[in-house]
Amino acid sequence: MRTVHGRTDRVVVVGAGLGGLACALHLAGNGRQVTVLEREPVPGGRAGRLSIDGYEFDTGPTVLTMPDLIAEALGAVGEELGDWLDLTPLDPAYRAYYPDGSTLDVITDTTRMAAEIAHVCGPREADGYLRFVDYARELWRLERADFIERNLDAPTDLLTGGLLRLLTIGAFRRLQTKINQFFRDPRTQRIFSFQAMYAGLAPHDALAIYAVIAYLDSVAGVFFPRGGIHAVSRAMAGAAEKHGVQIRYGTTVTGVETAGDRATGVRTTTGEFVPADAVVLNPDLPVAYRDLLPPARPRRLTYSPSCVVLHVGSTQGYGKIAHHNIQFGRSWRGTFDEVIRRGELMSDPSLLVTNPSRTDPSVAPAGRHTYYVLAPAPNLDRAPLGWRDGLAARYAERLVGTLEERGYVGFRDGIEVLRTVTPADWAEQGMAAGTPFAAAHSLRQTGPFRPSNLHRGLENVVFVGSGTQPGVGVPMVLISGKLAAARITGNQR
Ligand SMILES: Cc1cc2nc3c(=O)[nH]c(=O)nc-3n(C[C@H](O)[C@H](O)[C@H](O)COP(=O)(O)OP(=O)(O)OC[C@H]3O[C@@H](n4cnc5c(N)ncnc54)[C@H](O)[C@@H]3O)c2cc1C
Repeated sequence: MRTVHGRTDRVVVVGAGLGGLACALHLAGNGRQVTVLEREPVPGGRAGRLSIDGYEFDTGPTVLTMPDLIAEALGAVGEELGDWLDLTPLDPAYRAYYPDGSTLDVITDTTRMAAEIAHVCGPREADGYLRFVDYARELWRLERADFIERNLDAPTDLLTGGLLRLLTIGAFRRLQTKINQFFRDPRTQRIFSFQAMYAGLAPHDALAIYAVIAYLDSVAGVFFPRGGIHAVSRAMAGAAEKHGVQIRYGTTVTGVETAGDRATGVRTTTGEFVPADAVVLNPDLPVAYRDLLPPARPRRLTYSPSCVVLHVGSTQGYGKIAHHNIQFGRSWRGTFDEVIRRGELMSDPSLLVTNPSRTDPSVAPAGRHTYYVLAPAPNLDRAPLGWRDGLAARYAERLVGTLEERGYVGFRDGIEVLRTVTPADWAEQGMAAGTPFAAAHSLRQTGPFRPSNLHRGLENVVFVGSGTQPGVGVPMVLISGKLAAARITGNQR
């Protein structure tokens, strides 16, 4: 593993996103003196907080998986997860709604899930599910140590026994093709492959290695922390500060200062210079290269699709929905084509509707409810669209109409608070191509082919977060924090 040369005693981490915080914890646990500079008044970055009229909304991630990675980051400074977070396993993890009117609960317990599939789709489908679980568990086992939780410097690092085994079990075939070997019913085919969208690809384009995402949420489990996902950011920041990490909020970095091929520190908007032996950058990687570092030829990347999020505070409650609900439209492949290839809004939307107040009423005023509606949308590279020219409001109205048609009776009338977040907003927050989901996980942007967490020219500048390895999503950026810290401390594991 390549590491940062020279002194690494004082480290400045720019950004208190989950990646930056995980890195800070691992560095502090390894005896480094760490200062985190965060432009916002709160930690978490994309896992932030929006407070309106007594409603508390998570701004980004809602589907929390792999809490043992949070435990690991806290454990780096000797803290216990249970002392910082109150996690509820969600049962069901999701409820899927299909256009034919049927529903399917995704339950983490495999025996109960097999019974649910047998009930909705028949016993043969349940057998396929049990075979899929074994397959996906094996994928995760093979991928985790060799390819995900490891700093990869060159394609030759991939040459392990695990790679051979992955090839043998068809992990480099297309995801949809592989999923269809286990499932015949279009409903199960969808619920175990739609997660490719999280990796920025359609299931018929993604590789089967990404079946691990379905494994992580559908089998390993989905959790909700009391207070919302933002509580994870606060817990990590609190534990870091307790163990000597200095976090300075409201501090925007304007650039990394250099001498020769080393960074000497960073400059802030007030003109202050903060010296460092090593600098870790958590802002979106392409934006960090563009705005904070000496000019370099940018690498051309293909970005994941983006999304529109509606944050709704409402008087209206729905007894039949679950915490997470996936409302599938009729169209399947066509929806991916519209958003990813053609740069169009979904004509027949598939939506994630999350209802956090059902699990934790404290996130809404008494007797009120919170909804978070996520609609995949083209990124700004694919289609700039007129989000600032009235499209945001028109599209929000369309989505509300879709929800009413899909059974959310009175959704419009119940709205007390509505905030619409679009790709234009993600771009304004510093996310390349206006997507919060970073570079897509195509083969040429995965593993050692994804932008490295080491700067191309400066020997003591390291990147952390979803733009670098291993990739996007809360579990992956927590791992990226560990990998970035390892570049500085030399401790790979
Ligand atoms: C709408 C949405 C839904 C999502 N859903 C899920 C989900 O359900 N499950 C899941 O696992 N993942 C989900 N994700 C993805 C996940 O949230 C991200 O991959 C992850 O949080 C990114 O963390 P990060 O550390 O890479 O970056 P960020 O969170 O972006 O952190 C970067 C930090 O750097 C700060 N910063 C930027 N520039 C500067 C500067 N110049 N000076 C100082 N500070 C600066 C920012 O303020 C920010 O705090 C979702 C994301 C979004 C937005």
